Amino acid sequence: MSPRRVSLCTLPTPCHLLPELVPGAEVWIKRDDLTGFAMGGNKGRKLEFLLADLQDRGVEIVVSCGATQSNFIRQLAAACRIGGIEFHAVVMDLPFDSDAGKPAYTPRAHNGNRLLTEKFGAHLHVMPDDDWEVLYSHMERIAEDLRTRGVVEVIPVGGSTYLGAYAFTLAAKELDQPFDHIVFASSSGSTHVGLATAFAQTKTRIHGIAVDPEPGLIHDFAALSTSLANQLGFPALASSDFVLDMRFVGEGYGVPSPEGEAALHSLLSSTGIVLDSTYTAKAYAGLLHLVTSGELTGKILFWHTGGTPLIFAEP
Ligand SMILES: *Cc1c(COP(=O)(O)O)cnc(C)c1O
Repeated sequence: MSPRRVSLCTLPTPCHLLPELVPGAEVWIKRDDLTGFAMGGNKGRKLEFLLADLQDRGVEIVVSCGATQSNFIRQLAAACRIGGIEFHAVVMDLPFDSDAGKPAYTPRAHNGNRLLTEKFGAHLHVMPDDDWEVLYSHMERIAEDLRTRGVVEVIPVGGSTYLGAYAFTLAAKELDQPFDHIVFASSSGSTHVGLATAFAQTKTRIHGIAVDPEPGLIHDFAALSTSLANQLGFPALASSDFVLDMRFVGEGYGVPSPEGEAALHSLLSSTGIVLDSTYTAKAYAGLLHLVTSGELTGKILFWHTGGTPLIFAEP
């Protein structure tokens, strides 16, 4: 039986050709910046299934975590507001990966996603910057405390459960023409797992651009794929099935990169389409490199995953 879905987004999102970047290269763009829910982005697709599941299981309090400027936290706050569910967001301004090191950058904006998250009525628990693992343990502790007050559900970072991945297997079906390559910003994994699953038996190659300095994420993607296989019967993928291109991360998650900023300005100036510094600008910088170097040829789709409110969160 397919999972129940609440309608939040305006689907299908548009898909159109970009002006010629390189002679001979044909690059299209899938506009998930225009999903229409709580200012758009890829998380709206996941939340259609996540919210239905929360409602079906009678969840009263939701706890999740991310960066203070998280797109997922913003859209989850909106979904909980609509569903009448109390929402607690455990956040850090700049969570980081200790192995890669703490970046010398401090985003402290109170506008952008944070402003919207507050407007949607979330309870914000702001923690000092630390490793992601520390953020996860704060989240578990806060969730434990809340369990005395009602039915609590913890939603993992980015909404990357099997339902989130399932939403992207369906998103893939919106494409009405074949592409040789699909390029996009990959992070918590459900976008990547959903697309890779949907195109596994086709000629379309899925090229995720990493925005976290953690090559090991492909093992988390494989675990998520196993969960999607167990819950809904899709074929499971192995870590080696995921292409996660590490070359465009820059100094770390949430830290703008010079290539990303140049790519952002290039798309903005040629089309009026806005990218964000954390995800889509780095992915588009990757795409420009892949196309101009001839690493990718043929018909290419850039999947714009959203993040537009981040443009208003410059420190
Ligand atoms: C969350 C997010 C991504 C990454 O999607 P995942 O499913 O978490 O990998 C990419 N772009 C934007 C704008 C996002 O908010």
